[in-house]
Amino acid sequence: MNLTLNNGVTMPALGFGVFQAAPEETVDAVATALETGYRLIDTAAAYGNEREVGEAIRRSGIPREDVFIETKVWISDYGYDETLHAFEKSTGKLGVDQLDLLILHQALPTRFDLTIGAYKALEALLADGRVRAIGVSNFMVDHLARLAEQTSIVPAINQIEVHPYFSQRAVQEADAAAGTVTQAWSPIGGITAYRPTGASVFDDETLQAIAAAHGKSPAQVMLRWHLQQGRSALPKSVRPARIAENFDVFDFELTAAELSSIDELDTGERRGPEPEDVTLETFGRAIPEA
Ligand code: NDP
Repeated sequence: MNLTLNNGVTMPALGFGVFQAAPEETVDAVATALETGYRLIDTAAAYGNEREVGEAIRRSGIPREDVFIETKVWISDYGYDETLHAFEKSTGKLGVDQLDLLILHQALPTRFDLTIGAYKALEALLADGRVRAIGVSNFMVDHLARLAEQTSIVPAINQIEVHPYFSQRAVQEADAAAGTVTQAWSPIGGITAYRPTGASVFDDETLQAIAAAHGKSPAQVMLRWHLQQGRSALPKSVRPARIAENFDVFDFELTAAELSSIDELDTGERRGPEPEDVTLETFGRAIPEA
């Protein structure tokens, strides 16, 4: 299943995430994902595993043009020249000439000038054909509006926290109004389990009942919910059985009633970092050269 981005580029809707995959387990995880059929891999300069993602793609023997590679510029590399150099660092580690999608990892609300400089560098990389699409991550409605005032290319993607317990409808609506695809991070609510500040979605009774009705798992139900609502989703696992489970979602369909009962699980409680509070002082750290 593909999504068409606002510049006509097509992207697989379901991708594979590697946040918190240690470098030594990333090659195997990505290799397994590619064998399973995933063709979108989402990494980030800040994850410290771009090199291993590139190695797994090369070793797979799958032609470069058949794998959609997405990575992110970290805030410490914001500013026009710094972001152009961040592109060189990421492509150098990945071992590729061109990226399919390059996005800003976070807005820097207190240094929006640097955020704008970084985005203008993405626009230049797009114009030069070094990247096929550009976008953002963790941009809230206000950040999207400020970006639109000062730049000319609408982000193809806004990658944000979306799972049944936190669905950020207002951001999704702002994305849709602009023609930006919402891409879900922690799409199966992994963050509700690995950073527990409340209930885990995996234990949710509504999800378990829907899953039982279809002979599927709660994770598979959550992924169908994203796909049927037009989002891209990036489940992460380093375990082969789960990597396969999370891709085995194309043989069933949720009803409209099931989709709305999942929508109703939204608690409004963010589990990831508050995007408004991200600063260089608290989150900045140097990204190594390639
Ligand atoms: P996910 O919702 O993908 O959940 C992953 C977690 O759930 C892992 O702990 C994994 O453990 C476990 N898991 C995976 N599959 C299953 C399953 N079928 N059943 C039960 N447990 C399962 O959360 P992530 O936070 O990892 O997000 C996914 C991706 O989104 C990241 O890898 C990254 O690419 C992106 N992301 C982006 C962020 C951003 O700021 N832009 C922030 C966070 C994530 P195990 O590996 O042991 O299987």
